[in-house]
This record gives sequence, structure tokens and C-alpha cells, in this order.
Amino acid sequence: PPSMTASTANGRVLIVGATGFIGQFVAEASLDAGRPTYVLVRPSSKNKVAKALQDRGATVLHGLAHEKESMEKLLKEHQIEIVISAVGGEKILDQLSLIEAIKAAGTVKRFLPSEFGHDVDRADPVEPGLTMYKEKREVRRVIEKLAIPFTYICCNSIASWPYYDNRHPSEVIPPLDQFKIYGDGSVKAYFVAGTDIGKFTMRTVDDIRTLNKSVHFRPACNFYNMNELATLWERKIGRTLPRVTVTENDLLSAAAENCIPQSIVASFTHDIFIKGCQVNFSIDGQNEIEVSSLYPNEPFRTLDDCFNDFLVKMKDENIKQSNEIPATKPVVEALAITATCA
Ligand code: NDP
Repeated sequence: PPSMTASTANGRVLIVGATGFIGQFVAEASLDAGRPTYVLVRPSSKNKVAKALQDRGATVLHGLAHEKESMEKLLKEHQIEIVISAVGGEKILDQLSLIEAIKAAGTVKRFLPSEFGHDVDRADPVEPGLTMYKEKREVRRVIEKLAIPFTYICCNSIASWPYYDNRHPSEVIPPLDQFKIYGDGSVKAYFVAGTDIGKFTMRTVDDIRTLNKSVHFRPACNFYNMNELATLWERKIGRTLPRVTVTENDLLSAAAENCIPQSIVASFTHDIFIKGCQVNFSIDGQNEIEVSSLYPNEPFRTLDDCFNDFLVKMKDENIKQSNEIPATKPVVEALAITATCA
């Protein structure tokens, strides 16, 4: 019913995993939106982010997502209406107890599980990425079985150079020596600024149009393939870099090494830039919607702008730019990825 929008407009938001990489963007966006923001922090957390969020007005609650009774108590005590989870990939199943707590508490009008990537019911990466998707699928099925109102955020890639071995690539400056191009570099993907992942996630949480739906982030301005991404960065740094090919087999071998988390990232990289998992379907199902169609007047930060940030970061960190292109490397070569773990 439309009344739901009004009733949660100032509803209390609890963010689980707010000290993490994605969770921090969400918590900051919740505070930016002026919502009463609660963050669940593990008593053991060594992370300084909680303090910064608290200084900005968030209420810190100590607890563990996988402890049903204490979570139920927290939800009731603080009358939490919206729960957003951004627990890390290795903790996806910790959410099963949280879901039971949400069901039992009865205060929650919307739950956003830890998704923040691809549509896990559609995408079919190789292992070990597949295991994470199976867990995310299991979480979806439990939410649906218990009839908990949900929104699944499928925000695609974070704006950055998509290093195939780094799960938080936006923390790393794009290459300054050579580009590793996946396959022929022609498969496109969507790149979304972390701040926009947070901002648009928060827009959906009490929007009646996103109730029980998957929300896909496909900002037209940020639709790039690897070759275009390389050219964009070359324009920023004012010089060209050699491009080396990382073949499909290179990515599959990196995945097969089964080093966690790098091999998981390699399997997603293969799915995105070889198989085209972000672009090989249209969003036309009953239970899915594209975010730009919901908020057409709300601009996304452009990838061009995000790359400017990397340039500033590079200068701040005083990273020396060599003006010489390494002469020993051929412009295109096959990369041999040697196994370092089993
Ligand atoms: P992180 O590992 O950076 O952070 C995980 C957070 O969850 C931390 O705050 C951690 O607390 C907290 N946490 C873990 N277990 C529990 C628990 N049982 N109870 C309470 N808190 C807990 O995660 P990421 O940000 O990397 O991943 C979040 C989601 O985003 C995942 O679903 C991942 O797949 C996705 N993702 C998407 C990306 C993209 O490009 N689209 C990139 C990266 C991730 P503590 O501080 O104590 O460790």
C-alpha cells in the first residue's frame, strides 16, 4: 500500500557491516539523507570507521548479525524499520539468523541483504565466485519464504580500474605502468561511484516502487569497456601505456588457484569482461527495475570525474610518474599467471 512510503520516510535505519567497504558508503548516505542511522558494530571490530560515523550522528549498537536473540532484542528496542546488510562475501550466511530476528521482531518494513553486485539469480560465474552466489541466492530464498519485504541492490561494478585480483579496486589508483586488458577489451560494464551506491541504495529503502524488487544500476554515462577505460585514464595522465592481454584462460586459471579472495574476484572478472554478465540481459521482468528510470533527475557521478579523484590521490601520494614507457615490454603480450596457492 502507498502508505508504506510515508510510514518509513523517517524510519530508523540499521546498517550491518557499516565499518566495511560498501557499508561505509551506505551509512554515510543514510546520514547525508538525514535519516536516524544506527550502525551495528562487532564488539571485536578494530575499525575506526564506527567512531567517524558516530561523530557524524550515527548511533553505534554493538552486536553480531548471526546472534538471533540479541539481534531481535536490538531491533525491537530501537524500533528499527529498515535493515541494510553489507556483511562481507565470506559472511553471507551470517545473515540467516539476522533474517529470523527480523521476522521475529516485526518492526522491519524493508530488508536489503548484502548484495551490491550482480543479479545472483541470473549470473553464473565459475568457482569460487559461484559459491558466494549460491549463498546469496540462499539468503534471497529465505527472505522470500519468510515474506520479509526486501529490495535487492544490483549495482554492478564500483567505479575504478577493475583489477582482477583486488576485491576493493576503488582503493587503488589505475595502472601507471601497463594496462591488463581482459580478452579483446570490448565487453562493456557499468561503473558506479561508491558514494552513488550509497546514495541510490538509500533512495530505494522506502520507495514503494522498489518493494520486493531487484534494482539494477545501469547509468548510461558510465558504460565502458576495458579499452575505453584505458583511454580515459590515458587522457587523465597525459600519456599512453602498453596494453597487455589477459586471456580468458588466464582468468580461469587465476580462479582455479582458489586463493580467497583473489580467485573469487578473478571469477567475477571473467563473468563481467569475458561473458558479459552485466549486459547480456534486459531488465524487463515484473520484479526488477532500473534505478535511472526511478530517479531520472538524479545524476550519477561520472566515471570521468571519479578518475579525476584518482589523479588527485596520485598527486597527494606523490606517486612519481615516469614519462618513459618501459621499452622492454611488447605492447601486446600474453600474460602467464603462475599458481601461487592451491
Ligand atoms: P567488508 O569485508 O569490507 O566489510 C564487511 C563488514 O561486515 C564489516 O563491517 C564487518 O565488521 C561486518 N561483519 C561481518 N560479519 C558480521 C557479523 N556476523 N555481524 C556484524 N557485522 C559483521 O565487505 P565488503 O564491503 O567488501 O562487501 C559487502 C558486500 O558488497 C558483499 O556482498 C560484496 O560481495 C559486495 N561488494 C561489491 C563490490 C562491487 O564492486 N560491486 C565490491 C566489494 C564488495 P568488522 O569491521 O568487525 O570486520
